Amino acid sequence: MEEISVSGMVLKSIQYREKDKLIHIFTVELGLITAILKGVSNNNAKLKYASQPFCFGKFELVKNKEFFTVKNVELIDSFFDVTQDYNVFALCNSMLEVCHIILKPGIISEELFLILIKSLDNIFYKNIPANLAVLKFHLEFLRLIGYQLNFDSCDSCGLKFVGDIKFNFDTGTFRCANCSNGKLISKLEFTVLKNISSTPFDRLHTIKFNSDCIDACLNLILKNISFRLNTKIKSINV
Ligand SMILES: [Zn+2]
Repeated sequence: MEEISVSGMVLKSIQYREKDKLIHIFTVELGLITAILKGVSNNNAKLKYASQPFCFGKFELVKNKEFFTVKNVELIDSFFDVTQDYNVFALCNSMLEVCHIILKPGIISEELFLILIKSLDNIFYKNIPANLAVLKFHLEFLRLIGYQLNFDSCDSCGLKFVGDIKFNFDTGTFRCANCSNGKLISKLEFTVLKNISSTPFDRLHTIKFNSDCIDACLNLILKNISFRLNTKIKSINV
């Protein structure tokens, strides 16, 4: 048996046996791991908070062969407010969901972890609207998995964008109106996506776009991510 300490966030929690829970933790050091939290189904269990998604902390684990048992958790933030508004919760959950899909044991991405924390921080401590912060997260997520959007030129003919622009869901790319396939998107949506893409996380407060337009862009990006990951994003209806 080996004792280790990792920083991480709970992505998912599953009832296990009568009183235990299995938690999936996105750790900085080990990627995605599954650990058992013993006795947390009791109402007064000491580590009950660690069975909640979004629990961010330092996890002290005991490793026995391939199994991890949580010994203690030093809470950094529970992002408790995440459950106060259903819409905000669904948006935030979409970030945990895509992390869970992409992460496998042994896949380590400190950068993904960082953008997840930065996005939650933007929503709960910096007053950034949740749809904007989550859209920024998903744009960065696309970049991290190698599918950064190209806002400069058409993916089909290679020419720089001048007139109307289409988004092709079959390839997850923008193309000009003259090239075949794709759905026309509004100039505003294209501008919003381009702007948010190039704005750093700590400058999102400078973005002032209409909330409906941000929702429409988020919709487009989530459809694109669903296509890239070949799965349906369940947290939000797109
Ligand atoms: Zn073209």
